[in-house]
Amino acid sequence: MSNCSDHNSCVDSAMKEAENICSKNNLRFTDIRKTVLKIIWESHKPIKAYDILDKITGMEFSAKPPTVYRALEFLLENGLVHKINSLNSFIGCPHPLQHDQCYFIICSACDEIEECCDESISDVIKSVMKKNKFLHKNIAIEINGTCQNCLESK
Ligand SMILES: [Zn+2]
Ligand SMILES: [Zn+2]
Ligand SMILES: [Zn+2]
Repeated sequence: MSNCSDHNSCVDSAMKEAENICSKNNLRFTDIRKTVLKIIWESHKPIKAYDILDKITGMEFSAKPPTVYRALEFLLENGLVHKINSLNSFIGCPHPLQHDQCYFIICSACDEIEECCDESISDVIKSVMKKNKFLHKNIAIEINGTCQNCLESK
């Protein structure tokens, strides 16, 4: 996400893509689901659930916390957003439903997150799980360190 020069247009295209995915899969993209997704994309950085709640409380639109959590759940289940466990935050997926798992690199200096999805990572995991006779469901890979920008500005 650090590479987007015009964040408004990247929010717009994420919303349009979500709209398409929902209509293709017969999912109801309700107002609250839209609002939550938009807040996540607009934040540009990973955002915590209570910050999402905060923003919604500031809107005219009244939604109780359980409604907001259900909307988040929906977005997660349908691959539109990801949870970053190490930051206990949420971030929009730039390429929803293109593969099973997304992997992340997180800069601890500027908090930028990039997806570093790569089939070779998935292949290694599959073969290791096979060796362990384990049927995996969720995989969370979050690598933190320093991004190029921060390295250069040191
Ligand atoms: Zn993703
Ligand atoms: Zn991905
Ligand atoms: Zn950085």
